[in-house]
Amino acid sequence: MINETPRVRFAPSPTGYLHVGGLRTALYNYLFAKINNGKFILRIEDTDRNRFVEGAVENLIDTLNWVGLEFDEGPKTGGDFGPYLQSERLDIYKNYANQLITDGKAYHCFCSQERLQNLREEQQKQKLPQMKYDKHCLNLSKEEIRQKLDAGENYVVRLNVQPGIKVIISDIVRGRVEFDRDTIDDQVLIKSDGYPTYHLANVVDDHLMKITHVIRGEEWLSSTPKHILLYQYLNWELPEFAHLPLLLNPDRSKLSKRQGDVAVEDYQSKGYLKEALINFVALLGWSTGDNKEFYTIEELKTNFSIERVHKSGAIFNIDKLNWLNSEHIKNKTAEEILPELKNELSNSKFNEMRFSDDYLKQVIDSMKERVIFYNEFLTKSPYFFERPQQYDEEVLKKRWKEDTPDHMKNLAENFEKMEESSHDNFEAALRKTAEELEIGAGKLIHPVRLAVSGIGVGPGVFDLLAIIGKDEVIERINIAINKITIPSGN
Ligand code: GLU
Repeated sequence: MINETPRVRFAPSPTGYLHVGGLRTALYNYLFAKINNGKFILRIEDTDRNRFVEGAVENLIDTLNWVGLEFDEGPKTGGDFGPYLQSERLDIYKNYANQLITDGKAYHCFCSQERLQNLREEQQKQKLPQMKYDKHCLNLSKEEIRQKLDAGENYVVRLNVQPGIKVIISDIVRGRVEFDRDTIDDQVLIKSDGYPTYHLANVVDDHLMKITHVIRGEEWLSSTPKHILLYQYLNWELPEFAHLPLLLNPDRSKLSKRQGDVAVEDYQSKGYLKEALINFVALLGWSTGDNKEFYTIEELKTNFSIERVHKSGAIFNIDKLNWLNSEHIKNKTAEEILPELKNELSNSKFNEMRFSDDYLKQVIDSMKERVIFYNEFLTKSPYFFERPQQYDEEVLKKRWKEDTPDHMKNLAENFEKMEESSHDNFEAALRKTAEELEIGAGKLIHPVRLAVSGIGVGPGVFDLLAIIGKDEVIERINIAINKITIPSGN
């Protein structure tokens, strides 16, 4: 396999949405393909008809497109190894199941649900670690099997696990993993509805699609011995395996819906950037070991290595995702953020108002260090889009004193004299006013911020004033002088 082009696949079952764990698997496969000049394939494992969800495949592809994980082959994209939907490959699986039956490596099983249930209860009573089929139907003669098939009896096809030595997996992430053969069940390969199970379809497709590396979640590790036996029984070369660590809630329980969102589209609709999500899931089980946490997709494409994937479970820490979201916003230029801000504005109460691109870019530059989400440009600094609706009580109490209205009048007069609105002009005018009034600059800085923005935090005050502009600043100061009644005790 050494000189072959690496071929990896993301093989989700379409459940209706892309799970964040699925995104991690897809990403690691994608990065592996990029780094090794390989191919990244999307295969839809839709053989469980009970779980069929209308539109699920389209949804999955849309989400993968949104995050930018382009695949080289897959449904709709096509490729030389299609179809890439397992439900369109049923005959292929049947043929291999028949081949296994002919070779004695699989057999028909006609056991009823009742018999299986009794067997299960019996084995539970004996406190056996897991339920195993007892090979009852292996004793049927060819003749009996023929009769049952002819009579149209329900059946499944089972793997015939042969006695032998342990099944050993040499996993890129987990190293050597051994499984006792006694623990491996005679897995159903073809179900009574004629559809293959995950195990058969997965192995057949990985082989036919020339997959060289199977990179998937740890929850599939326990299925791998069955897969290895299938490869052996079909005389096929094994791919390499890499099982990615489980995703855990902060309390180390398995990541579940109960503790938060697990669908990528939920994060998308909450305003997370695809760059942040990709960066975040990249760190769920992988690091370069140098404490670096911020990665662009381009950096990941050169830094990622499957050998550095950790064994231990990866904790899903939403605070880190939020931090990364803010970091990725900071990393963007105002030009790049502009359409996002416009989009937020058009979905807000400011949708009728028109702001110049230049103005919005100044707003972005002053605020992008201070937001986690794009909508916070509006929620954290509405004063760039409207006059203060109210004044923060706490700040008012602390900063707006009896003599403040007079100070503000003086300040407004000096602002009036400025030739143009700029950071430096506002600063010079304010310092001059402080000198004239013989007061500290703070006595002007805090109240003017309150008058102009209504709150006590935000960008540097002179930047704020320069963006809002001289006339509007003076107007807002005058409104504040008229509107604010001095809290008693100030
Ligand atoms: N269909 C399986 C899933 O839903 C694929 C597991 C594998 O990659 O083998 O995750």
